[in-house]
Amino acid sequence: MIFNVATLLSKNVGEKRKHKFKLENFSAGKQNFIDIVCKITMLKTHKNILVYGDIGAKYKDYCDRCLQSIMMNLETNFEEEFISFYNIEDTIIQNKFHGSNKYVIDIYNQIDLYEILKDYLVSVIPIKKLCEDNCLGLCKICLANLNLKKCICA
Ligand SMILES: [Zn+2]
Ligand SMILES: [Zn+2]
Repeated sequence: MIFNVATLLSKNVGEKRKHKFKLENFSAGKQNFIDIVCKITMLKTHKNILVYGDIGAKYKDYCDRCLQSIMMNLETNFEEEFISFYNIEDTIIQNKFHGSNKYVIDIYNQIDLYEILKDYLVSVIPIKKLCEDNCLGLCKICLANLNLKKCICA
C-alpha cells in the first residue's frame, strides 16, 4: 500500500490519481481483516496530497452471546491530507510533526496507507457483536447454544 507521489507532487493543484487495490489479509495489532478492497483518489493540493476514498473489508469475530464465529462486512470512507516532509521548514515543528503526524509523505516521496487502513477499519468494528439481533445465547448452566436447541435446565 505504498505509493510514490513524486510525479503527482510536481503537477498542478487539483490534479488527481485514482487507484484501486485489494488485499487478502490485513492485520492491525490484534485485529485481522480479510478481502480488503480500497478505492482511493489522490489529489494534489497547494503543497501536499489529499487522499480520500473508501474501504471495504470482512472481519471475523465471535458473537458476544453464543460465541459462534461470525463474519462481518465493514465499510468506511476516509479523507486525510498527507503532508510532505519537505514542506516543514522549521526544525522544531519538523521534530514535533514527525513524532505526532502519521500522514506524512516521506523523504522518498512515498505515502503509506497502512495507518489509514488500520485507523479507519478498527474504528468501524462494532462494539456489540452479535450473530443476529435476537441471538438467544448460551444456557448459563449447561452451555448449550440456545439458538440450536432447547436444554432442560430451566
Ligand atoms: Zn449469537
Ligand atoms: Zn442448559
